[in-house]
Amino acid sequence: MPFPQLRRSLVLLLCLLAPAGFAQDVKVRKAKAKGPRFVRIHGGHRLHRDAAASFERMAKAARESGQSLLVTSALRSYRQQRDLWRLYRKGLGAQAARPGRSNHQRGLAVDLVVGGNLESPTYAWLAGNACRFGFRRTVASEPWHWEYRPRSTSAPRDGEDCLGQPLRVEPEPAPTLVRTDAS
Ligand SMILES: [Zn+2]
Repeated sequence: MPFPQLRRSLVLLLCLLAPAGFAQDVKVRKAKAKGPRFVRIHGGHRLHRDAAASFERMAKAARESGQSLLVTSALRSYRQQRDLWRLYRKGLGAQAARPGRSNHQRGLAVDLVVGGNLESPTYAWLAGNACRFGFRRTVASEPWHWEYRPRSTSAPRDGEDCLGQPLRVEPEPAPTLVRTDAS
């Protein structure tokens, strides 16, 4: 093959390959910068990394108010969702979405121990505060099921909680008196 023709072929080949290779490279670098898609939250369950970060902030705020958010289910594999759905269909398990239709499979839903009724302190805390962290209820019959939907969950107005109730102002802790005797 004469030299100019070879060079033209090489240039053409590089032009064809370079954008694909570059895009691939950018994708890999982006994935590495963000870390894995699903990450572990306290208690061993896993959530999508964005939901997990927000959930951990919410759990910390709950702890500071004396409530612990216990997780019973978070990210589920297709097989786990399918098994739960089959049990539900047989009348043997709690309500479960058809596999492929649950936000548990996307790591965006979390089931919490809410104490069995809507009057429990844990449920009351979630109802009043979860929206500040992008979480809200999505299934009317499942008070334990909360989803991370930051785009469609509005933050409370200033001075109000997620239910529109006035925020309780916690009293400032009394200052500790320290003796500063110079002698
Ligand atoms: Zn759920």
